[in-house]
Amino acid sequence: MCQSRQEKEALVDFLRNEIDRQLGPSVKCSCGRNAVHVAEDLLYLAEAGNGSPRVNAFEGHVFDGDVIYEVAVPVAKVCMAALTQELTIDSRVTFMLLLYTIVTADGQDLDIGIANRNIVEECLEVARRGVWLLYAEVLAGVTGSLAGHAFMIIQTLGDDPDRLRAVHRMAQPMLDWVPLLDENDM
Ligand SMILES: [Zn+2]
Repeated sequence: MCQSRQEKEALVDFLRNEIDRQLGPSVKCSCGRNAVHVAEDLLYLAEAGNGSPRVNAFEGHVFDGDVIYEVAVPVAKVCMAALTQELTIDSRVTFMLLLYTIVTADGQDLDIGIANRNIVEECLEVARRGVWLLYAEVLAGVTGSLAGHAFMIIQTLGDDPDRLRAVHRMAQPMLDWVPLLDENDM
């Protein structure tokens, strides 16, 4: 992707501000440190453009296997903000995979501090608020991975089945590898 230096700087400013808003020093990471190191990783991911750090670098901090931690909520918001921007394909795919990992989590950490919160639902709600952004990603069809993971996130949100079916048809053959779930499976 060919970006002028000015555009690149505007992108980094936009994301840095959003990351500061969401992951300030008062936010705790599940590893016991504050979430600044997660913020730095996310900024690097946007800035370096090589798709690093990969999703598994966030394991043990944002998620663990199928379980997500409290910090997953602000991280999901940063992923959505990042996806509004022009990123390199590698970085875009990693943000999408990270969002996918968060949104498809099976449960939340049993930490007492978050006992009264439904983190899984909060993350779904973050993605729901930006569902048209995800549809745009499916229909842009930049790569099968991007389109497919965006589609699987939307399916997880339980969006309108008729709309899902129509978009699945429109975005072929990008979505060849993504099964259209039955209404009862969603
Ligand atoms: Zn951590």
